[in-house]
Amino acid sequence: MSSHFITVCLDCGAQSPFLPGAPACPKCGSLWREAIYDYENLAFTLPVVLPGRPFDIWRYRELLPIRDPNPDYSLGEGGTPLIHAKNLGMMLGLHNLYIKDERQGPTTSFKDRQAALMMASLKEAGINELVCASTGNVAISYSAYAARAGIKLWAFLTSLVPAAKMREVALYGTQVVKITGTYDEAKQLAAQFAKQRNLFLDLGARSIPCLESMKTIAFEITEQLTALFGPPTAPDQTEQATPWRSPDWYVQSVSGGMGPLGVMKGFHELHLMRLTNQEPKVAMIQSEGCAPMVHAWKQKKDTAIPVKSPHTLIETLATGDPARTYTQIYKKMKAASDGEFESVSDEEAFRAMHFLAKMEGLSIEPAAAVAFAGLVKLVRAGKIKADEIVVVNCTGHTMSIERNILGEGWERNINVTSDSLDENGREEGLLAALSNVGIDRFPRIAIVDDEPNVRTLIRRILQSQGNYKLYEASNGKDAVEMIKKEHPNLILLDLMMPDMDGFQVMDALQLNQETKDIPIIVITAKELTPAEKNRLKGHIQSLMQKGDFMNDELLDEVRALLK
Ligand SMILES: *Cc1c(COP(=O)(O)O)cnc(C)c1O
Ligand SMILES: [Zn+2]
Repeated sequence: MSSHFITVCLDCGAQSPFLPGAPACPKCGSLWREAIYDYENLAFTLPVVLPGRPFDIWRYRELLPIRDPNPDYSLGEGGTPLIHAKNLGMMLGLHNLYIKDERQGPTTSFKDRQAALMMASLKEAGINELVCASTGNVAISYSAYAARAGIKLWAFLTSLVPAAKMREVALYGTQVVKITGTYDEAKQLAAQFAKQRNLFLDLGARSIPCLESMKTIAFEITEQLTALFGPPTAPDQTEQATPWRSPDWYVQSVSGGMGPLGVMKGFHELHLMRLTNQEPKVAMIQSEGCAPMVHAWKQKKDTAIPVKSPHTLIETLATGDPARTYTQIYKKMKAASDGEFESVSDEEAFRAMHFLAKMEGLSIEPAAAVAFAGLVKLVRAGKIKADEIVVVNCTGHTMSIERNILGEGWERNINVTSDSLDENGREEGLLAALSNVGIDRFPRIAIVDDEPNVRTLIRRILQSQGNYKLYEASNGKDAVEMIKKEHPNLILLDLMMPDMDGFQVMDALQLNQETKDIPIIVITAKELTPAEKNRLKGHIQSLMQKGDFMNDELLDEVRALLK
């Protein structure tokens, strides 16, 4: 069939052609095979053929296990934007933080790449019925593409998958089989069912089309970064510069691990063809209650001990047994430029949902937020450095936001039914109702910083999670005048400003009876000398380092001082 690639068995090394309907090695029966392509040739042809093509996964068809991409089944998979995360980057001190927004795929997760290629592959093989087990998103994506391709799908889902997701799967016409048990048990049942009925079973990371589809994430990121930053410069004169640029880090939340395994293969192939400067370090983030890979990695083991009963609210990431996928990842990480495994708690993930929505305008499901919570952890541990180019895979359904994620007090109620309104008339009644909400009694805060970006960031942090009346000044002189006039309840003060700096502002405020007791939080980009620290003593309430505080940390300080 396809002639532009062959498969190699990871167990016996036998090479064989790929037949979509026959997933096992013809020599030893192993299901672990890898696709290899004509890299030598592609190194020359790829940069030539790519520019004229649409930005979707089929753009890279020479590196995909498909003979003839069929546009009839396409839903616009791949080609998702790479978004500069400016606000989150500023909070973390990362200048080059990018979000690969996989939410913008047809069913809002990167599984669309997998589904598109899988269904196209099944069609090539003439297969019209498929069984899969899923923690939710694979089933949704497969269902959409199966509907278009006329493939009957059986989806084995655990009862913990949110009802809204299960109903979406059913809406597409998929037969939902609900398993009260773990995801690993659902997988076993799906396999037995498929065997009994002689139906094709989705093999996840062992399926060549599934794994290969993930490479397109790496290819796209590389092309997008090259467009943004230009080609990299050669490390020294003896080496030739490569045409394309890869990131320093790729960060993803991980369940079964197919995503990172495929993405790593994609980056590896580009590097093998000398099209990119490097293979990125990969950071894989799991949920603390189900983190078999993290445990194994921290103990430097190449096999993971399965987690029998996962304890996490984040069902999407509840793969307890990563099996050989972990071993494959481990090997690749050792061979390439290393990386990190980290875990985060459900609470940390929920907090990340808040900051991503409030600071970057991206509403994501908890599973996707796990990656961002992990990013924060790795930056704070010094593993990810300030000037590195970091790309985070942001994938997943925006779920109906559940109560426990939002907490209390997010709404203000105004009752405008007629009997609650004032007799004096509707208009006045409405105004009175509004004043009950207390909008004129907000705490008053002055933001003093010469960098507009920083003022915008701080304004955003304060206004996204509280109600404040804010005043801004971009230099010391204006600040002193504004503070004398407005008497804010709190001042957020930058130290380094041209002409009149933060120290001089404090001195000026000290001289005035009416301003000398206003609490001050200093927010500075500067490492302070002992003498400078001494100068601040007794005059300020708190000191925060730019690029090293998250939104809720600033808010905690602000709220404490306003009490
Ligand atoms: C599938 C998925 C993951 C994890 O994917 P793997 O690569 O299979 O580990 C993470 N987050 C979301 C939202 C997903 O849908
Ligand atoms: Zn074999």
